[in-house]
Amino acid sequence: MKILSTLIIAMLSLLGGCGKTQKKVSTSTHVPTNPEPYAASITKEELKTLLYTYASDAYEGRATGSSGQKKAIAFIKDKYVTNAIKSPISATDYFQDIPAKYFKGRSEGASENVIAFIEGCDKPEEVLIISAHLDHIGISKKGDVNNGADDDGSGTVSIIEIAEAFQLAKKEGFCPKRSIVFLHLTAEEIGLFGSRYYTENPIFPLENTIANLNIDMIGRVDDAHKETPNYLYLIGSDRLSQELHNVSDSINKASVNINLDYTFNKKNDPNRFYYRSDHYNFAKHNIPVIFYFNGTHEDYHKPSDTPDKINYELLETRARLIFYTAWELVNRKTRVKLNEDVL
Ligand SMILES: [Zn+2]
Repeated sequence: MKILSTLIIAMLSLLGGCGKTQKKVSTSTHVPTNPEPYAASITKEELKTLLYTYASDAYEGRATGSSGQKKAIAFIKDKYVTNAIKSPISATDYFQDIPAKYFKGRSEGASENVIAFIEGCDKPEEVLIISAHLDHIGISKKGDVNNGADDDGSGTVSIIEIAEAFQLAKKEGFCPKRSIVFLHLTAEEIGLFGSRYYTENPIFPLENTIANLNIDMIGRVDDAHKETPNYLYLIGSDRLSQELHNVSDSINKASVNINLDYTFNKKNDPNRFYYRSDHYNFAKHNIPVIFYFNGTHEDYHKPSDTPDKINYELLETRARLIFYTAWELVNRKTRVKLNEDVL
């Protein structure tokens, strides 16, 4: 396997500690550098603080179109405003509005995707999309709130922390070569509507979208890994781009080095997870995807999916893995290539 130059730098840097050799550069020049200090800004404490709010009863289970979902989008927007991360829509508008009729009667009303981005300095027109769904299944018939801490509060707060890490790097002079889009999708639970709407009404041209890293449930441990919890399922990484898979695998080994489990990536997997979260709407358009997932558990789609059951140590490690992978994808010399059979 070809070893990447930035990967070698990352490996050396990891061996050498915290970026002693960093040089500050102007934001107009891309210089690959050591991402480790920025990955270190993604912490279990911050993830926990964010998630205890986002998955609290005040958000009423975040059903698409509900008042709880409106609180969720306000929360997400506020984090980007606070971190001075801009929206590609306008200076103050972070919401891609989706009319109620688009949801075919399955929502409580109109809804919104939330979008923010960090513009690249060398190839700003090429974008990496990191996504997670912001909605959940609302309040159950008995009146219990489905907090959706893992599904998908874990993905939501991870993206906020990953964005903050990239913004910190940019502030210190390390502008990414390509642009990074932070996309919080609505209406996943009622049928992947938010991602379908985005891909039908893309804010950045789909042909310039280099890949989609989709995070849906990364804060828990499933039964199969009770004894070996340092894992994550990756789904779809080689389906459209073997190069994406190779990069992802190498970056994991050079950084957090967890057990990447490809059980659910098998084409004949009866769970068909490849088709069941938002990345699939990007894959349909031949955009290479990776779906990050911890598997299902006893609290899946139940009021008991609460923030006290999240393993924050693991959540931190997994969010850092996605950050490192994103860093490589936006900074490598060429965008990842599609496999010949999909060209
Ligand atoms: Zn989900």
